[in-house]
Amino acid sequence: MIIHTIEELREKIKEWKKQNMTVGLVPTMGALHNGHLSLIKKSVEKCDKTVVSVFVNPIQFCPGEDLEKYPRTLEADEKLCSDAGVDIVFAPSPKEMYGEGHILSNDFLTYVIPPFFYTNKLCGKSRVGHFDGVCTVVNKLFNIVQPDFAFFGEKDRQQLIILKKMVKDLNIPVEIIPCPIVREESGLALSSRNKYLSDEDKKYALALSQILFNIKACYNKGITDVKALTETAYSYLNEHHSLEYLEFRDADDLEEKKIADDNTIVFIALKISDVRLIDNIALK
Ligand code: AMP
Repeated sequence: MIIHTIEELREKIKEWKKQNMTVGLVPTMGALHNGHLSLIKKSVEKCDKTVVSVFVNPIQFCPGEDLEKYPRTLEADEKLCSDAGVDIVFAPSPKEMYGEGHILSNDFLTYVIPPFFYTNKLCGKSRVGHFDGVCTVVNKLFNIVQPDFAFFGEKDRQQLIILKKMVKDLNIPVEIIPCPIVREESGLALSSRNKYLSDEDKKYALALSQILFNIKACYNKGITDVKALTETAYSYLNEHHSLEYLEFRDADDLEEKKIADDNTIVFIALKISDVRLIDNIALK
């Protein structure tokens, strides 16, 4: 069942809560693939009721990013959800979420701003304001749906760490359930943005996972010096890759690591033909 308005969704949630049912929320921007499906399946398994939100959130896109061309496939998304046993697909318009004229500047909208220490690095460095937009919309979705559990992919690990921090700092009564990265057999992490890649670009995109897998293999052999581990990456890169970052950071607070340990995440972002791709791996 698809619902477009907050009011109608609230009615449903009220009914469920009256019956003491647990509610799971899977926030997405749509163009659903097997990565999203893994989160959805977890929620359907764990919770009495599951809501999947499909909303291309304008306030998490920076100027010049792909807001307009971001893939929108609501009909197919709805089918995937109903086949997976989802109870409600919540697909609001920007106007429904942000009001008449949807004025998105923070002069006119109350934002949830995560700590600078968490957002001034990795994706937050090039996507200024992105995580403010993410925290604001997820906070709104939490208030609308009041889920007991919310499911987020480790694919967007910085986002996951920031949202955990938000839930803790603001005492939001929801449990965040992290879900492992789903990859193609080739190693490429599934992403809605993979749709932008040509077949040739897709081959170059394998560098992300290959670099991460190779670093993990070296770590498992006993190499812990980050400089040495980083050097192994460059042989996978060529003129088709524009590396944005390759960084080793703490899994809980994103502090930089000079020596890798079991609580280290390796993060990578690079562009191929102007398509920005991200991936990460836990060394443990
Ligand atoms: P998005 O629609 O890109 O905002 O993603 C919605 C949710 O799906 C986020 O929690 C993502 O981390 C998660 N997700 C996207 N791709 C994958 C993947 N390949 N594996 C696991 N989770 C994913």
